[in-house]
Amino acid sequence: MTTLTSLLDVDVPRPVLDVIARLRELGHATYLVGGCVRDSLRGVHPKDFDVATSALPQQVQGAFRKVIPTGIQHGTVTVLAGSTHVEVTTFRSESEYHDGRRPSAVTFEQDIVKDLSRRDFTINAMAWNPLSHELVDPFKGQEDLKARLVRCVGSAMDRFSEDGLRAMRAVRFAAVLDFRLDPATQAAIPATLPVFRKVAYERVREEFVKLLLSKREAFGLELLAVTGLMEVFLPELARADAEAARLARAAASAAPADVELRLAALLADLVDPQRAEEIGVRLKFPTKTVERVRLFVGHAALERHVGDSDPALRRLLARVGPANVEPLTQVARARIQVREPARLPELEALIARLLALVAAKPPLTGKELTLNGGAIMAALGVGPSPIVGEATRFLVDQVLDEPSRNEPETLKDLLGSWLRARGS
Ligand code: ATP
Ligand code: MG
Repeated sequence: MTTLTSLLDVDVPRPVLDVIARLRELGHATYLVGGCVRDSLRGVHPKDFDVATSALPQQVQGAFRKVIPTGIQHGTVTVLAGSTHVEVTTFRSESEYHDGRRPSAVTFEQDIVKDLSRRDFTINAMAWNPLSHELVDPFKGQEDLKARLVRCVGSAMDRFSEDGLRAMRAVRFAAVLDFRLDPATQAAIPATLPVFRKVAYERVREEFVKLLLSKREAFGLELLAVTGLMEVFLPELARADAEAARLARAAASAAPADVELRLAALLADLVDPQRAEEIGVRLKFPTKTVERVRLFVGHAALERHVGDSDPALRRLLARVGPANVEPLTQVARARIQVREPARLPELEALIARLLALVAAKPPLTGKELTLNGGAIMAALGVGPSPIVGEATRFLVDQVLDEPSRNEPETLKDLLGSWLRARGS
């Protein structure tokens, strides 16, 4: 697979080729770089094609009609070629690093090898000229691709000390590509954890999500734990005992490749909903994700409801929200598959009942009653007052028990008996 032939096979989009050809006509060294070269060599169609050039950002801007100065201070310009956006970045080296976070200075370079030297891993540090079919591979990236190894460009200790996130990226690439870490690269991780600690959680989360959604997610999580990276951002899992951690990883892998589902399956049997929320907030997940993960974690043990009556299940639907039932069942299924596979048929039967109840669209909230607030007040002979809320809760309870009660006359009758019972 790892041959130049696979590079020749890749369909580089026409607009990308045109951008490279134009810059080359103007005399600028220009290449495809990074992930797209790596993936092409693996025989995988790249997600996006990044272009690197010796042209300065102003020269790139001058060479095309439509450009967006996306990250011009870092040398990145987006060229609009038809409907395609082509990111063109000037060759650069990054010298000084502050606190292992971000390079404090960017120097533009004329030599592609300088640009490749600042990249993280050998497999990510190759450049390809699709017009002349020249591959620039100064760090033996092809060899490492063949050996399925993630290896730092240069000294791993130095590279991880410059940017603490790279250690996490190494593990992420191992999980995504199903590669191993080169021993020296792996050995440098524990030693540079203090630098990793300084990395912003947003950046950690981005890599964590890619790892979580990868095919070798359980392997990636294990590697995060062994290297000490996990202790920094997810101590709840890092400190779990070996069997609990193994089950958590297996449950996450059994869930569909979706962040919320995998995260919930991972955490459901390790932490309570409150702690799940804290983890989501810590890792700066969007609020919606945090709330859903909290909810899924809180209700993941669906098998507890196997013996429940329909009214009890409708109350569960009311708490969870009908739209969340389907994803919740996926989390529940994933964890039971690894924890108690023998109970899977029972769970499936429960899931079928739950989904049938959802499909019947029963009234679950005050808003869905056939008596609105005004009608309830009229029936009670009162204006706005706390008793209206109480009455509404009573009626919701009645229709949760029996949805067919949700008829105005029936509800009025029920309200009458409720009032009389209160009076006495
Ligand atoms: P993916 O397919 O997951 O996007 P990618 O290789 O494109 O993989 P990106 O995170 O998009 O990964 O980064 C693009 C390229 O930029 C990498 O291939 C690598 O050469 C370089 N790079 C990205 N982040 C770093 C970093 N922290 N340190 C050094 N080089 C980096
Ligand atoms: Mg990328």
